[in-house]
Amino acid sequence: MASHVAGPEIERLVQLLARLPGLGPRSARRAALHLIKKREELLGPLGEAMQIAYQRILTCSVCGNIDTIDPCTICRDARRDPSILLVVETVSDLWALERARLMPARYHVLGGVLSPLDGVGPDDINIAKLLDRIREAQAGERTVREAILAVNATVDGQTTAHYIADLLAPLGVKTTRLAHGVPVGGELDYLDEGTLAAALERRTAF
Ligand SMILES: [Zn+2]
Repeated sequence: MASHVAGPEIERLVQLLARLPGLGPRSARRAALHLIKKREELLGPLGEAMQIAYQRILTCSVCGNIDTIDPCTICRDARRDPSILLVVETVSDLWALERARLMPARYHVLGGVLSPLDGVGPDDINIAKLLDRIREAQAGERTVREAILAVNATVDGQTTAHYIADLLAPLGVKTTRLAHGVPVGGELDYLDEGTLAAALERRTAF
């Protein structure tokens, strides 16, 4: 085993950083050194921000988003159209859609996708809550008109979308999904056959 070059506090910092996605032991060591070098302007504020996040961040009981209040800021935002639900796999997908500022809708975070190979079934993700939410809205005055299944264009994502669409059909909710095809700025020559086939099949009138 390699001998440690620093005290246990620094080693612990390195080991924890190495558990972050995209960071291996070498880059974790570099990140730790950078943090230590920027002790006042980075390490201190980062430590405080993490402490606050650890204490105050919770999962929204309505949509599954993360925030420091429950219901979350998005669920409380009266300017958003409650009749359109954007169904996403993860909070990071929600953030991606929010960054693009495309639609002032509400969200529902599934927290994953159905994956028979990995043993993820309908009870393991937030599907029951989605149905409850829609039924509850229908019982009141705020009917959900449309559920946009904004899941990834992967096999598991599409399996999940089909499964949810089947469940929503009897509830009278219009179910749509994101278009598949040529990305904006994309060149046909670089696209894989699956993407080209999807683009051709779902061609639109000019
Ligand atoms: Zn929420």
